[in-house]
Amino acid sequence: MSDVLLPALAPGADLDGSVTVAGESVTFRDLGSWSRRCAANLRAAGVRRLAVLAEPTLETVVAVVGSLAAGVPVVPVPKDAGAHELAYMIGDSGVDAWVGPERSEAGGLLVLAPRDLLGTESDDDLPEPGGDEIAMILYTSGTTGAPKGVLLSRSAIAAGIDALAEAWGWTAADTLAHGLPLFHVHGLVVGCLGPLRVGSSLVHTGRPSPQAYADAAATMYFGVPTIWHRIAEDEESARRLGGARVLISGSAPLPVPVFERMRELTGQEMVERYGMTETLLTVANRIDRPRLPGHVGWPVAGVETRLRDEHGAVVPRDGQSVGRLEVRGPTLFSGYLGMPEETAKAYTPDGWFHTGDVATIDADGNHRIVGRESVDLIKSGGYRIGAGEIEAFLLGFPGVREVAVVGAPDEDLGQRIVAFVVPDEGRRPDPEELSQAVADELSVHKRPRDVVFVDSLPRNEMGKVQKKKLLG
Ligand code: ATP
Ligand code: MG
Repeated sequence: MSDVLLPALAPGADLDGSVTVAGESVTFRDLGSWSRRCAANLRAAGVRRLAVLAEPTLETVVAVVGSLAAGVPVVPVPKDAGAHELAYMIGDSGVDAWVGPERSEAGGLLVLAPRDLLGTESDDDLPEPGGDEIAMILYTSGTTGAPKGVLLSRSAIAAGIDALAEAWGWTAADTLAHGLPLFHVHGLVVGCLGPLRVGSSLVHTGRPSPQAYADAAATMYFGVPTIWHRIAEDEESARRLGGARVLISGSAPLPVPVFERMRELTGQEMVERYGMTETLLTVANRIDRPRLPGHVGWPVAGVETRLRDEHGAVVPRDGQSVGRLEVRGPTLFSGYLGMPEETAKAYTPDGWFHTGDVATIDADGNHRIVGRESVDLIKSGGYRIGAGEIEAFLLGFPGVREVAVVGAPDEDLGQRIVAFVVPDEGRRPDPEELSQAVADELSVHKRPRDVVFVDSLPRNEMGKVQKKKLLG
């Protein structure tokens, strides 16, 4: 596609489209002119790296696209970052300016209010920065350790969006809606820059409620499994999404019962996809192929995947054999910020990136994510057991609303399987029947030793279960 990163905002672009965030709208034409004004002001202020407190507002979008136009790497910071997290990101990322309300953790930086970004001067002749230049530094979700700053180049972002546009038939005729945070790949790179690259309008709902999704009346929707779960329980809103062209889920596993309920209510088979901050969205279901529930589909255009075991041998593509997933292609990151050793360790000598996830690939090339090697692959009594398989089984039991299975340290077994179960409101599963079903259906080594009933699972804003917290 285009060498220009965001063609919808280029001077003279004649794409009719708009961006709406939490009820406030701007045309592509005006957003393009704001982005150039913002770029001119950032350059005049001598900003070299910019942190943006990424609240779901139009100002956040302007600050991000303005930085991209200026060639100033931008670091979106979680909107509800605590003082400690914020101080870490600001120190780690080496930013020299900050857009957002005054906060003591941002002391020492040039503080810019959104109106400073739109001073009067504009600069229509900004050169397009080169593809290798770093557009953004995004922090990983911190599920397995401290969040890592991921350097993303302009060409990786462009390749990532173009590949998804191809898989999903995403064009300027679409309107995309979602209510995702604007500081991760899902909501910001694909969910916000995606429309501006493809030329489709964007409706960011602000708070992601089922009704707000339905009210957006879009052709495409993005969401994390938590919101799809809520939509699947809100029959009226779900039915109103039936007219959309495609409903897309990612960032965490989409439970099969949610996929099935959404199919019942909307007549649509949801499109699940898989990705990481470091790789962008690399494996995705396609609109031109049938969807298998629990599967994330095929590598996107230009991306290759392989599965290997711990000795480096390639694992067969039989839909059963589990291996470490490795990825290669044009969407990969340019390194972890300030962590050359981590960056080197993340790659194999022949240039494949270790995702840290384990997966299966079937004969047709369709991928199923088993989980993270570090927390979802349980090693118990000499067996290697995927937590997801046990979770899927327990989710099918009446009265089980959510479940997370973990391997707790155990002297005898190495790890002991523990299931944390959130019961349905007013319909608690019967523990006796549950253990009977487990005994009937799961082989001995896959049976949870303990089932703990809890009110909710610890999740981050992307709906990822924080299993480390469950293990205490
Ligand atoms: P950290 O790297 O800091 O521990 P993180 O890995 O959660 O945090 P992200 O880059 O935001 O940070 O998330 C990528 C991970 O999300 C993947 O490695 C994978 O485990 C999970 N993931 C993404 N999409 C899916 C999906 N469709 N199904 C299952 N897991 C998914
Ligand atoms: Mg990770």
